[in-house]
Amino acid sequence: MNIFKTKKALQTHLDTYKQTHRIGFVPTMGALHKGHLSLIKKAKEENDLVVVSIFVNPTQFDNQEDLIKYPKTLQKDIDLLKTVNCDVVFTPDVSEIYNNQIVSESFNFGGIENEMEGKFRKGHFDGVGTIVKRLFEIVQPHKAYFGEKDFQQLQIIKKLVEITNLPIEIIPCAIFREDDGLAMSSRNTRLTKEQREAAPFIYKTLKKAKKKFGIKNAEKVTKWVQKKFKKNPVLELEYFVIADEHSLKQIDKKDKNNQPRAFIAVYAGDIRLIDNLAM
Ligand code: AMP
Repeated sequence: MNIFKTKKALQTHLDTYKQTHRIGFVPTMGALHKGHLSLIKKAKEENDLVVVSIFVNPTQFDNQEDLIKYPKTLQKDIDLLKTVNCDVVFTPDVSEIYNNQIVSESFNFGGIENEMEGKFRKGHFDGVGTIVKRLFEIVQPHKAYFGEKDFQQLQIIKKLVEITNLPIEIIPCAIFREDDGLAMSSRNTRLTKEQREAAPFIYKTLKKAKKKFGIKNAEKVTKWVQKKFKKNPVLELEYFVIADEHSLKQIDKKDKNNQPRAFIAVYAGDIRLIDNLAM
């Protein structure tokens, strides 16, 4: 496995493979878990060479405290990447990506950037767009892999390649969960024992909401979810929204013109957890 810290060294290495090898790319912020590894395994199956980036991108954090506390476990990540036969790891410093100008580009993703995560995390998707565009330009992969765990981000990235005309195929990957249903996340390692025990409630509630949505409209289901969280002493609901998978606009009922999916963001103390489920 080759590890590079600079664009130049990475690109020199990849240049020798570009003509003959299909390159798959998995961007991450590190603190890797089995969810990340599932993306890398899929990329290994579909490509000749897999590049994983580990970069905690400052411009996508609207909350400095969250950025500072974001788990960093580089050596453990490298050991894990070896177990899945990752070929290349790119671990740039902030200056290598941003040249000491730590600012986002401004994007128009057609409105999907203003829903849900975009509403609650100001500038988040400009930060995501900025880093992913830069990484795509550096790595120039044939395919790039993104988890449905961050479903809105996945839709943003699809839009990004459309508006930038980058010839990259975006491959969605299913959410990888713990046995008790909690969606795997780097932030889960920060949960206290009590918070970790409470957290599977998020997915359980999503599943119950799905059952109810067959009978009740979105407003009623949303009220029910809000009531459930009010009674939970550990988890605080930020939002629960049933929206169309493509427009990400809120919907009331399932019909032939939409594909409903429930999206949720919850706080356990200062730790923010997100999840989603097709309805
Ligand atoms: P992150 O390191 O959190 O930025 O995640 C890197 C990539 O892994 C993103 O495309 C995420 O959507 C994906 N990912 C994170 N957690 C999971 C999970 N539990 N299941 C599937 N994909 C995930």
